[in-house]
This record gives sequence, structure tokens and C-alpha cells, in this order.
Amino acid sequence: MIYKICKNAHNQIMGHVLNSSGEHGGSLKVVEREKLLVIDNTHSQGDTHSVVIPCSRIEWHTHPKKCTKNVCALALPSSEDMKLCLIRGKTKKCEVHFVYTYLGIFVIYCIQSSKTVKKDPVSCEQEIESYWQSHKKDFESEKLTIDDYLPKWISKINSLGFVVEFFENNNNLNIPYCALKQDV
Ligand SMILES: [Zn+2]
Repeated sequence: MIYKICKNAHNQIMGHVLNSSGEHGGSLKVVEREKLLVIDNTHSQGDTHSVVIPCSRIEWHTHPKKCTKNVCALALPSSEDMKLCLIRGKTKKCEVHFVYTYLGIFVIYCIQSSKTVKKDPVSCEQEIESYWQSHKKDFESEKLTIDDYLPKWISKINSLGFVVEFFENNNNLNIPYCALKQDV
């Protein structure tokens, strides 16, 4: 079954990306009748690098647009984010994690394919991090732009077995959806 984030929740979360200098995170809950995901009342705020959110079935966190001088400026899910999704997916307590950024929204399916299930989360994190490190110089010298790196990152992540969807944040309000394993 496909569930879509309601417009109100989408706007609230995107508001944190655009207007806050810290990361925000929380959970979404299902409104079954309309097949909508609405924001849950749990919500945490952290610094520019991290936010701690309780594990839940459908989670979200933001990468602030204002953060411009380090890795989070790339707006991609971090290697640590991917590790966390893998760990939480293994417990089957988290199904989907949304990472909201100014570039767009990443939907990471945490209950993974048979390929990632066998992977050790820490070595997976290291592999993603070293992939980034091997491109960092080109990014700093402006040989590589974020638009070039994004499809590379997505295919790297897919090659590790992750299932990730990307919804570009364009002028036509692009509201993400996700498929949940079973109906509630
Ligand atoms: Zn993150």
C-alpha cells in the first residue's frame, strides 16, 4: 500500500530545512482511511550535525539548508544515517526513514533487501564514507558538483543493496510517498 505525506506535514518538515540551522527529526503516523502520513507529536531538535530521534515505524529528519561548510552541505543522507537505517531496519521496528533536504527528499527503506541484511552496518558506513572521501577533493576544487555527485551516490547506495527513492524538491510541490509492508 502506498502512503503519501500530507501537505501540511510536508510543509512543516520542509520549513525546518529552510528556516532552521539545526537538524530536526520525528516520526510520522498513518491515517489509514486517506492513506496519508501525518506528523506525529514526537519531535526533536539537535545541532547542525545530528539529531536523536526515538525509533519508530516511519521516521524523518532534516538536513538544514543553512549548514554550508561541511559534509551536511551536500544535503545527502550521511554515512551515519545509512548505518542507523540499517540497524533500525534489522530490528524491524523502523520501516521507512525520510531525509528532508533542500535538494529533495530521500526515502530510505530500512527493512532491507537480502543483500544488505547480510551486511555489517559499521562496514557499510565505512564503505559509504570512503566513497565520499574519494570524491571530496573534486568537490572542493569544484570539478564535481552536487548535481554530478547525487546520481553517483544513489548508484553506490543501490549497489550496496539499499532501496532509496529520491524526490526532487522543485517548484511543483513534490510530496514523497512510501510503500509500507503491510496495512495497519
Ligand atoms: Zn542526517
